[in-house]
Amino acid sequence: MKKKSIGIIGGGLSGLVAAIHLSKNNLPVTVFEKESYPNHKVCGEYVSREIIPYLEQLDINLTDLDPARINKLQYSTASGKTVNTDLPLGGLGISRYAFDEFLYQKALSYGVKFIKALVTDVLYTEDEFQITTNQKETFQFKIVLGAYGKRSLLDKKLDRDFIDQKSGWLAIKGHYKKDDFPDDLVMLHNFRGGYCGLSKTESGAINVCYLVSYNSFKQHKDPITFKNKVLLQNPHLRSFFKDARPLFEKDLSIAQISFENKSSVQDHILMLGDAAGLIHPLSGNGMAMAIHSAKLASEAVLNYYWNDEISRVAMEKEYQKKWKEQFSSRLRMGGLLQRILLSPGLSGFVQKIISTFPSLLPKIISKTHGKPII
Ligand SMILES: Cc1cc2nc3c(=O)[nH]c(=O)nc-3n(C[C@H](O)[C@H](O)[C@H](O)COP(=O)(O)OP(=O)(O)OC[C@H]3O[C@@H](n4cnc5c(N)ncnc54)[C@H](O)[C@@H]3O)c2cc1C
Repeated sequence: MKKKSIGIIGGGLSGLVAAIHLSKNNLPVTVFEKESYPNHKVCGEYVSREIIPYLEQLDINLTDLDPARINKLQYSTASGKTVNTDLPLGGLGISRYAFDEFLYQKALSYGVKFIKALVTDVLYTEDEFQITTNQKETFQFKIVLGAYGKRSLLDKKLDRDFIDQKSGWLAIKGHYKKDDFPDDLVMLHNFRGGYCGLSKTESGAINVCYLVSYNSFKQHKDPITFKNKVLLQNPHLRSFFKDARPLFEKDLSIAQISFENKSSVQDHILMLGDAAGLIHPLSGNGMAMAIHSAKLASEAVLNYYWNDEISRVAMEKEYQKKWKEQFSSRLRMGGLLQRILLSPGLSGFVQKIISTFPSLLPKIISKTHGKPII
């Protein structure tokens, strides 16, 4: 048996789930996370149910968090034309504040070591990695998983292709209280240049998260003017914000969101979750993909760990192959769906078809999802 220590850069969903999977199999795991737990993250907070069987195998039972159970979708165009439909698989409404903290506590209970630091460099030489943090400490590992999310200074250090391309999207999120908002509904309301998702979380707060193209946003001088002039042109959003009470002092925001292709292995690092590829959020499948990629990477690492005949290159190839099989077509479908729903001409045409055949919408969305992960 090979002796290997594993370093995971990033303790979000994919990093934490991989840490739990590997430590449950007695591998020594260290997670580097720059933020403290718990914390709020920009995310729609709708978790596809496809991950439930896998998480249960890891003794992670999401019902412990008492999530909102979501099985209905309301979709509207920018002018407010509406389609209501059921979601066959459905999802759970869980805030990232609660979800990441829950996984963090599980990981601690399995003996995962956490280092609160920003990783500033990772270098592979002579079959070993060296990780350097902003505290100028260095650590050696035999295997490194990159689970550091959409965009990091490490992407620049690793000279990844997507990092120099223009990323024209930004996202804003807040939690709200509104008495008559249904527990079982996710709303997806379009506006010029973007869309806004609304759904309940385990705390009863409604998560409101919108993604907007920078081109649309920059025509207005600040987020409030943008909200008034663009977002509130959709009558559903106008009606929601009229009497919803914000629970955060200030909305959270992130910029430079990239949907470009990325590599699932870079400089011998197995990339997980958004670090390997981000699906358009309207699919509501990014978190499930991040968790699924943690499973694929953990299985490849365990296979390598237990079999002396398996080389590092073979492990990397196995992970790349499985990643592609699972996610490539979903990413393509997510991109296509986003282009259709955001193009004013096409969206109107597609809306007419969907209004006539409402069951088409969940069928289209299901193309961006996977089957329950067993
Ligand atoms: C606007 C928007 C809405 C979304 N809505 C949904 C939705 O409703 N449903 C859904 O399923 N998906 C949604 N997604 C996608 C989902 O949020 C991501 O796919 C998911 O969070 C990916 O998990 P991850 O583990 O890859 O990254 P993350 O969960 O982002 O974790 C990355 C972690 O790495 C840490 N980190 C980063 N760099 C470093 C470093 N150098 N050193 C140390 N730590 C570092 C970060 O602090 C972070 O904790 C949405 C995405 C966006 C942008």
